[in-house]
Amino acid sequence: MPVTHTLEADVLRRQDPELAEILLGELVRQSTSLQLIAAENFTSPAVLAALGSPLANKYAEGYPGARHHGGCEIVDVAERVAVERAGALFGADHANVQSHSGSSAVLAAYAALLRPGDTVLAMGLPFGGHLTHGSPANFSGRWFDFVGYGVEPESGRIDYAQVRTLARAHRPKAIVCGSISYPRHIDYALFREIADEVGAHLIADAAHPIGLVAGGAAPSPVPYADVVCATTHKVLRGPRGGMILCGAELAERVDRAVFPFTQGGAQMHTIAAKAVAFGEAATPAFTAYAHQVVVNARALGERLAAEGLALTTGGTDTHMLIADPAPFGLDGRTARGRLAAAGMVLDTCALPHGETRGLRLGTAAMTTQGMGEVEMAQVAAVFAAVLRGAKDSRTAREEVRELTGRFPPYPDL
Ligand SMILES: *Cc1c(COP(=O)(O)O)cnc(C)c1O
Repeated sequence: MPVTHTLEADVLRRQDPELAEILLGELVRQSTSLQLIAAENFTSPAVLAALGSPLANKYAEGYPGARHHGGCEIVDVAERVAVERAGALFGADHANVQSHSGSSAVLAAYAALLRPGDTVLAMGLPFGGHLTHGSPANFSGRWFDFVGYGVEPESGRIDYAQVRTLARAHRPKAIVCGSISYPRHIDYALFREIADEVGAHLIADAAHPIGLVAGGAAPSPVPYADVVCATTHKVLRGPRGGMILCGAELAERVDRAVFPFTQGGAQMHTIAAKAVAFGEAATPAFTAYAHQVVVNARALGERLAAEGLALTTGGTDTHMLIADPAPFGLDGRTARGRLAAAGMVLDTCALPHGETRGLRLGTAAMTTQGMGEVEMAQVAAVFAAVLRGAKDSRTAREEVRELTGRFPPYPDL
């Protein structure tokens, strides 16, 4: 089922030209602007093909061999393959591949290990904690008693001494490590040591770095955390979805926390697409990709710093950069708007210190397109020129169009 059938589909174009036009418009947008959002990537045509397959029709509550619906014999094989590939890829005893999203994976991890009202220690939201790490707007903040740790003001690195002090003082039932905006590796062994000292479970929310872990470009939380939650659509480059990894002793609790506790029927087309992505991630080409993502982020960071942007922690170990545009006299929102007008798409994010917002960007998508350090230098130059007001958005937009035109994410579409 070639992907062109999904997007250019004569069927869709004939039946619903309005929607066909929208799908094509989004493909053009993604192909002609720079996708700097740290959480985004371009899945392969093979992953898109699985997503657009008739597996989307199948109801499959339960797990392979124990479904509440008939006719699951084929999709059972798909899920078994996905589970086996994930387990092998990450060296985990058990993988649950049914979580609909990263947030659902975290919800299930809490459901497996905690009771409402339990105390949980996680990175505070102003420092880079995710909504599921205790936001009052999220189930996590409503149902659990979250205590937040932060980063050292000088280095911007996680304040492990504070983590230990807070753990001793609050005796949390679980400690969460993982962030939406921490560009450095996390010391999972140290988190494990602190969790053991106070008798807490350790939950690693590795939504961002799990793709780097798959490619051997970042340390793995699997040997240290009781439960690892992840997404499959960030650096990992699979379909939009979640995943949970754990040891054999928690396998059944985790599975029951996903279904029937927090979810209904599994999305079998997505699970098949996850299997395809795990297969891709196990190849030497993906290992090279993951390392190039980090090389590119470092190169981009060094250039942006040289242009005058202030990077939290002074740089990155990963795919992610957090930049404060204050030296340009701009706040994050204004900077994001200017960059968007020039075709550079990224997010703002909280900065660990001060009230202003910063910029969060990543190199996962650009690296998938085949860009390298030469292109990172070019991106940094346009980026800084736009923020400085030295280049008008039209000229910059043309440069971005020219650059992306040389690196089409889907050359065959
Ligand atoms: C992206 C992310 C999530 C949530 O993923 P969704 O699929 O958007 O629900 C959870 N935790 C962290 C740390 C993340 O970065």
